[in-house]
Amino acid sequence: MSDCSVEATGLTKYFGAFKAVDGVDLAVPAGSIYGVLGPNGAGKTTSLRMMLGIIDPDAGVSRLLGGHTPQSVRHRIGYLPEERGLYPGMKAREAIAFMGALRGLDWSEGRRRAAAFMAELGLERVIDEKIRKMSKGMAQMVQLIGSIVHAPDLIVLDEPFSGLDPVNQERLEALVRRERERGATILFSTHVMAHAERLCDRIAIIARAQRRFEGSVDDARALLPMQVRYTPRV
Ligand code: ATP
Repeated sequence: MSDCSVEATGLTKYFGAFKAVDGVDLAVPAGSIYGVLGPNGAGKTTSLRMMLGIIDPDAGVSRLLGGHTPQSVRHRIGYLPEERGLYPGMKAREAIAFMGALRGLDWSEGRRRAAAFMAELGLERVIDEKIRKMSKGMAQMVQLIGSIVHAPDLIVLDEPFSGLDPVNQERLEALVRRERERGATILFSTHVMAHAERLCDRIAIIARAQRRFEGSVDDARALLPMQVRYTPRV
């Protein structure tokens, strides 16, 4: 039994003749907050999707939560995809309960937890608001809560900071820290080093389809020149 929440080796993906991801390895220790950094188009989203078994790799293997296939631990995963989307006619509380139900959570328990999450983040005033009436950032917060309401062991967030104002970015940080304290492992992608520096134990940098760096945030600070750290085009 491995103590890694994600163990991916040699992940490779072609779109036609274009190699979008080229032999990416990733080992995410259980209980850590892990950042996948890289510029737009580097291959982060494609790597995360292969890790989670959403798309099949052309080569490589992904095992989650101590050696399981992604499909066999689906209910223990929380995933915020890069493309956001909620039913616009749903109220925040229903949307969160609905997402929980898709991962096996009882509906009334989902509604109860939705209220608790919203109150904890100071968002109780929008709990009965319809998604279509919300700002994009607020809808993103609702989707984020919906993706973790079933208390998953592994949380994977694709560019969770983008589209959020500074107040919601702070809420997101608080939520990530709280989920780790609960015992979850959190893996998120970003193209902003500062977000990773504030939150992560370890990071990987993916650029032009390959993993170019892996290590602790302190290693990254020591090894990477400033211009690489802030615009990671290695
Ligand atoms: P971004 O933050 O811009 O999404 P990323 O690092 O997540 O960047 P990916 O979305 O994984 O990068 O994309 C990697 C490369 O693969 C990009 O050049 C992208 O255009 C290409 N790509 C991704 N999905 C497809 C697809 N379904 N068909 C063709 N090309 C694709």
